[in-house]
Amino acid sequence: MTSDFDCDLLVVGLGPVGAVLAALAQSQGVSVIVVERSPTPFPLPRAAVFDHEIMRIFQMIGVAERIAPLCRAPERYQFHTACGQVLLDFENAKVGPFGWAETYALHQPAVEEVLRNRLYELGVRVQTGVAFERLVQDPDGVTVGVTDNGISREIRARYLVGCDGSWSPVREALGITLDDYNFDEPWLVLDTIIDEPGDLPIVCQQICDPKRPVTHMAMSGKRFRWEFMIKPGETAEDMLDEARIRELLAPWNCADRIEIERKAVYRFHALVAKRWRDGRVLLAGDAAHQMPPFAGQGMCSGIRDSANLAWKIAAIVRGDAEDAVLDSYQQEREPHVRAIIGTAIAMGQIVCLLDETAAAERNRDMLARKSSGAQDVSVLYPDLTGGHLTDTACAGALFPQPVSEDGERLDSLFGLDAVLIARSAIDPAGTSVRTFSLDSPELRKFAEPIDVWLTKAGADAVLIRPDRHVFGTGETAALLGAWTELAHRKIAA
Ligand SMILES: Cc1cc2nc3c(=O)[nH]c(=O)nc-3n(C[C@H](O)[C@H](O)[C@H](O)COP(=O)(O)OP(=O)(O)OC[C@H]3O[C@@H](n4cnc5c(N)ncnc54)[C@H](O)[C@@H]3O)c2cc1C
Repeated sequence: MTSDFDCDLLVVGLGPVGAVLAALAQSQGVSVIVVERSPTPFPLPRAAVFDHEIMRIFQMIGVAERIAPLCRAPERYQFHTACGQVLLDFENAKVGPFGWAETYALHQPAVEEVLRNRLYELGVRVQTGVAFERLVQDPDGVTVGVTDNGISREIRARYLVGCDGSWSPVREALGITLDDYNFDEPWLVLDTIIDEPGDLPIVCQQICDPKRPVTHMAMSGKRFRWEFMIKPGETAEDMLDEARIRELLAPWNCADRIEIERKAVYRFHALVAKRWRDGRVLLAGDAAHQMPPFAGQGMCSGIRDSANLAWKIAAIVRGDAEDAVLDSYQQEREPHVRAIIGTAIAMGQIVCLLDETAAAERNRDMLARKSSGAQDVSVLYPDLTGGHLTDTACAGALFPQPVSEDGERLDSLFGLDAVLIARSAIDPAGTSVRTFSLDSPELRKFAEPIDVWLTKAGADAVLIRPDRHVFGTGETAALLGAWTELAHRKIAA
């Protein structure tokens, strides 16, 4: 890259999404600057849970082993009626097919601290107290005006990603509007610390009581969250009143030992930016999409954006791909995000029902369907489609991550490279893809589950992208050819 650039990638915003993007990109040889308006990290939790895919991404940046001890893998996530009947029940596999537990409860500031420390270890230039103000694009890059502790200066970058949250000044600067699902529900969110939980249930649950829908989450350590729906006629001020909060918590019988760390009123809504890319500027995380928290997927979706973008930007910077590869970002991510928003809204509509008759009907219908083995809402999210993928079996699926008997995870062999695994020996010459044959010594302890997977896909080989989604299956030469051809296409397919 030419020297008149301060960096290849400027990340605006150091929330979890910006931190993961910066760490992944820098680890893949991209020079990264992060600017963050706030001089200090945001000290209060927002996300309560994240999933296995996110832990796998943390593994890619070398922090999963540090983050896992900070988290708790809940047994299940349930939706109850007011009298405790289970409407929805999601069991949490302790180690699922992707190498980690299905779900982890977290304390977001503790996880973000690990991510920040990792950025310093990787040599990312983190600039706090520096606010994005404006940008100008030209064919080669982006010139960004920032305010650095009251002083204006410029940063020049090849690419900019706005990870600057729901109000996103970067999105504003680009004039990008939001598609609104018209889901808009006000809730009181309480974050608490309880030294002696006693008989407080250690669960993640939605209590679908039409008198007052409530979320109760045992997060990690001594932290517990309650969320109370605010009903028509109630005001935020009423709900934030200390006496009112004690009244709301009375059924849990813990008022005498609770420390309220934060009380805030949020409006839960669902929004998707109409465009996620404008030339050399992209949006990720809450800047690109927001959703109600009932599926626990807002931050997860943003971190998936980061994993999708980082390797594509790195491939362009290395000269292994054309800029057009970035058009596949929104093509792949938007349908995935919209499917998850659909799930989050479906869950929200179950929880947020205030009409007693309608709630009784809901309970009756859902319990009947459940007793016949069906569950109304699925958390099996779709594979990627379109974008930077071949049209072959299993393309777009997340490749499994088997764990060997001695506790090693498959991805630890792969680093951050694209990988081709074939049944027969491969000549690796002339490809940037790392190649493994099923009988190679490194792969031996994972060979059996991969063999089973290839057989199910009806293929001799699989090419896996750096974000661990399957690029395609089939025959080695065809896959390697398609990988190079698609990367060098001037206009994305
Ligand atoms: C009550 C609640 C519960 C939730 N539960 C879950 C859950 O269980 N699981 C889940 O996955 N998600 C959950 N979420 C959503 C999750 O918290 C967010 O999706 C996630 O924090 C967004 O991360 P981000 O990095 O995109 O944005 P943010 O974390 O908002 O970070 C944006 C950063 O950009 C900075 N910034 C803004 N403007 C500028 C500027 N001009 N210049 C420089 N920097 C700037 C901000 O200071 C901020 O640090 C929940 C949210 C809420 C509110």
